[in-house]
Amino acid sequence: MRKLLAAILLFVCAVGAPAPAPKPPKLVLAVVVDQFRYDYLLRFRRDYNAGLARLLDHGAVFTDAHHIHYPTVTAVGHSTFLSGATPSSSGIIANEWFDRETGQSVTSVSDPDTKLLGGAPGATGSSPHRMLVSTVGDELKMAGRNSKVIGISIKDRSAILPVGHIADAAYWYDSDSNNWVTSSFFMADLPDWVKDVNRQRPFLKYLGGNWMPPATGDAAKDASAKPFCTMVAGVENVRYCGGIEATPWGNEMIEEFTERAVTEEKLGQHDDTDLLAVSFSSNDYVGHAVGPDAPEVRDISIRTDRLLGKLLDFIDKQVGAGNTLVVLTADHGVAPVPEVNAARKMPGGRLSDVAMLRAVNDALTAKYGEGKWIAGGSEGMLYLNRQLIRDKKLDAAAVEETVATALRGMPHVFRVYTRSQLARSEVTGDYVSQAVLAGFFEQRSPDVIVVQDPYYLYGASGTSHSTPFNYDSHVPVIFMGAGIRAGEYDEKIAVNDIAPTLATILRVEEPSGSIGRVLSEIFAEPVDMPAVVNFVAPAYPRAAKDARIMGKTVTGIRVNRDGAVTEVRTITAHPVFEHYVLEALKQWRFQPSDQDHSFQITCSFELTNQECEGTDKHPITPETWVSAELPIVVHIRTGVRCSEADTSQTQH
Ligand SMILES: [Zn+2]
Repeated sequence: MRKLLAAILLFVCAVGAPAPAPKPPKLVLAVVVDQFRYDYLLRFRRDYNAGLARLLDHGAVFTDAHHIHYPTVTAVGHSTFLSGATPSSSGIIANEWFDRETGQSVTSVSDPDTKLLGGAPGATGSSPHRMLVSTVGDELKMAGRNSKVIGISIKDRSAILPVGHIADAAYWYDSDSNNWVTSSFFMADLPDWVKDVNRQRPFLKYLGGNWMPPATGDAAKDASAKPFCTMVAGVENVRYCGGIEATPWGNEMIEEFTERAVTEEKLGQHDDTDLLAVSFSSNDYVGHAVGPDAPEVRDISIRTDRLLGKLLDFIDKQVGAGNTLVVLTADHGVAPVPEVNAARKMPGGRLSDVAMLRAVNDALTAKYGEGKWIAGGSEGMLYLNRQLIRDKKLDAAAVEETVATALRGMPHVFRVYTRSQLARSEVTGDYVSQAVLAGFFEQRSPDVIVVQDPYYLYGASGTSHSTPFNYDSHVPVIFMGAGIRAGEYDEKIAVNDIAPTLATILRVEEPSGSIGRVLSEIFAEPVDMPAVVNFVAPAYPRAAKDARIMGKTVTGIRVNRDGAVTEVRTITAHPVFEHYVLEALKQWRFQPSDQDHSFQITCSFELTNQECEGTDKHPITPETWVSAELPIVVHIRTGVRCSEADTSQTQH
């Protein structure tokens, strides 16, 4: 009776009060996929069976997460990710902007006071000096934690802005030298292991590679499939891929470099939680060129799933299963290619930057006389010549309004905001205006801001992103790890909610500019489960592979105070798997605790022949991993070996 009462009370507690934040993990793996719309999780779901599949099946998946600022671009998305701040306080208002002090265009991270390390000698470096707020990594450091904080990406802004100011390192790819680089802001000299990676010239192995489309399953058709592009020019009817960053191999280089960083920097093996932020850039380059409806985008999304699977497996092996908290999002989405939209009777089209600037200039000249009225900016971000306005003794607000009126008369201009209007918060209250206000930082923002009609964009080809509309703002947010309650969460959230949630889990101060809330609904009731410190995956039995048998086993185990497994007992199992499961589980070891434990462990055996798709062969890497919470689920996923001729080919 008392037990029943306790159970009821526990149930009531579980419903009535949110669970406490989980224990800090050994490692936070913070992943951004550059330009990844939320609907890529839905549209390509059946093709995902590795990292993204694992996150979707075992993570807390937010189905309605948005960027709430304008413009939705890389630098702003990445600065939001682990700071929780909007541009109105972070100061990161765009990828680049016109700097009124110097009269020049600056990027979000350009820093003339730093030197590039590892690139061309004497080249200027980058730093987070324009970001005015702290990140989760900064808060770990300021709390005096013995944590390592490292950022990695192809793009400098994507490596630097998530980790912030006190990071141990941010590494990015310098396409001039084809080297991994950092800047003198972070350190005096590249570590030996990074120099070693650069000496090996990792990009060389991708030269001559064909980027092949995904298999259709029809062997004859697949054999005749033409590559999307190739890494060398000159083959007939084959498109040159361009820079390596614009191919799936750019992401592969990021992943390889990340594995090396985990090993060399012993990430996840320090006294306190380490933070590793990785941003996969290639999706963005590919997406800009061909748009979200192209087969290349499906292909690179599938490859992102596999690459993420490889990284998660590697980290589990290094850090121990269940010791990593993963959070994944994207910095922005993307609009459909206007011509694709037109063909399906959807609105959309292309805007002319030149026509817009001309209209502005004509209106100002007609009203106030000749002059170089526009000081800088482009694509709807206009900086006026303030000196000229002062010289002519004009009222700045009136000049801005003249510009706005001229622009409002142009086709496909949705809204025009002026600096004076935004500085006084005199805007309508809808979400578009709120996004523009959240993106407004008075000292840096333009004098006039134009938001275009939905599905309209600048540029003569391909597509882009920047608007507050859902195709640009709606992105994945997924948390996965011990103490995180898996499932789908449909409430609307902001990407700004990630940082305060992490700060709460890590027991540090909320980043200084964070406006998000703690996503406490994902905190699971604490479970009495010590971490797995030695994880041995059951082998996929040869006989089962040959007969293509898949299935699940359920096994009960007892664990003593020392963390040793003292008893294993089959509850259900296909006989072909039973022996292998029992042998593996006997070797498991858990963290010592103050009591004995009993668990049920489900082992799921799955065969996939995805690795044999088309002619683009991937080496077969069996995937095995264990879920970080109760019930414990072990996945054993392995590929069917392709023919020898196929697997011996190197097709990267
Ligand atoms: Zn982009």
